[in-house]
Amino acid sequence: MSNFPKLNLRVAKILTSMSSMRSPVKVRQVGDPVLRNIAKPVDKDYIQTSEFKKLTDTMVKTMRTSKGVGIAAPQIGESLQVFAMEFPEKNLHALRKRGIKEEILQAMELSAFPLKIFINPEFQVVDSTVTEFPEGCVSIPGFKGIVPRYRAVELQATDVDGKEISWKVYGWPARIIQHEIDHLNGTLYIDKMKPETFENLYWKLNA
Ligand SMILES: [Zn+2]
Repeated sequence: MSNFPKLNLRVAKILTSMSSMRSPVKVRQVGDPVLRNIAKPVDKDYIQTSEFKKLTDTMVKTMRTSKGVGIAAPQIGESLQVFAMEFPEKNLHALRKRGIKEEILQAMELSAFPLKIFINPEFQVVDSTVTEFPEGCVSIPGFKGIVPRYRAVELQATDVDGKEISWKVYGWPARIIQHEIDHLNGTLYIDKMKPETFENLYWKLNA
């Protein structure tokens, strides 16, 4: 079903530039049991406490430092159902500036979105078309693999103000949502990837 070998190579290059070998040690790495736990739901009363604010601030800071596009609380050692995601417009501009063609951005359905933090998230599949593109993870830095994901989902969650929200989304952000919610269920992309596509992002550089 996959479809675009050349395209996937280009996407891998994009992922290489998005991910980082310089992940801070704060990011829990594959093998840490916390990444395999089912995260606990966040108590409503806890959401607006300073302690919770500190947790989400740390998540956002860690996501940005490690150049991730998403991060789940277990990745900083907190087994709670919270994740953050962010893909600012400037990242899209940077990809275009580096000569990534519009057709590739379109094939990936790559779109920018501001910082979002979701608490106790769930999703329904809105478009069950399966798309296959490479993914990386700051808990498994330096690698990627092609992961089948649903094209579109509708996310329901609580936001940091304690409000119930929903977000119907397709393509790139829908893929990130599925990746992050997997983290909350103790699942990593390597469990769902096509194993033969697992690759060290840097081996070609050292060849
Ligand atoms: Zn991840």
